Amino acid sequence: MPDWIAHVLVAWSLTTILGFRFKQFSQSNSAIVIFGALIPDIYKITLLLDSFGIYMHDFLNPIHLPIGSILIAAIISLFFVNRKSIFLFLIMGISSHYALDLLLFSGGMEIFYPFSPLKFQIGIISVTDFNITIVSIILALSVYLAYKKYNKKNYFNLV
Ligand SMILES: [Zn+2]
Repeated sequence: MPDWIAHVLVAWSLTTILGFRFKQFSQSNSAIVIFGALIPDIYKITLLLDSFGIYMHDFLNPIHLPIGSILIAAIISLFFVNRKSIFLFLIMGISSHYALDLLLFSGGMEIFYPFSPLKFQIGIISVTDFNITIVSIILALSVYLAYKKYNKKNYFNLV
């Protein structure tokens, strides 16, 4: 199951790889993408609320639908001056989240809701399988080593 560690590491790896080519993917913009990758799982706060006897599933579960996540990203981006770029970076993070979640087989996701009630999932990873976390850690380590090597090379080019 892609947990928050996998979502964060995949979003970080993605922005770091893009940062090799595009200067827009600075560390601060990468942080926005990473935050965006966590937006769909905001609904998991219902698990905490359940323990206090507060039932909020009907209100918070739609956040784990693309339409709900996009709405949350739009609301967050309204608090910033450069709202268009903030919104796009958040959407990029949200997209990476659903790309990982689509790999699961957990009954499907209504990714086209409210336009279609059909559920989709590629279904190659079990919900209880944490190998995706291990793979994301290996990916992030590889990207980090490439990033270090790339920066070192560029540093010597400048001197
Ligand atoms: Zn998810």
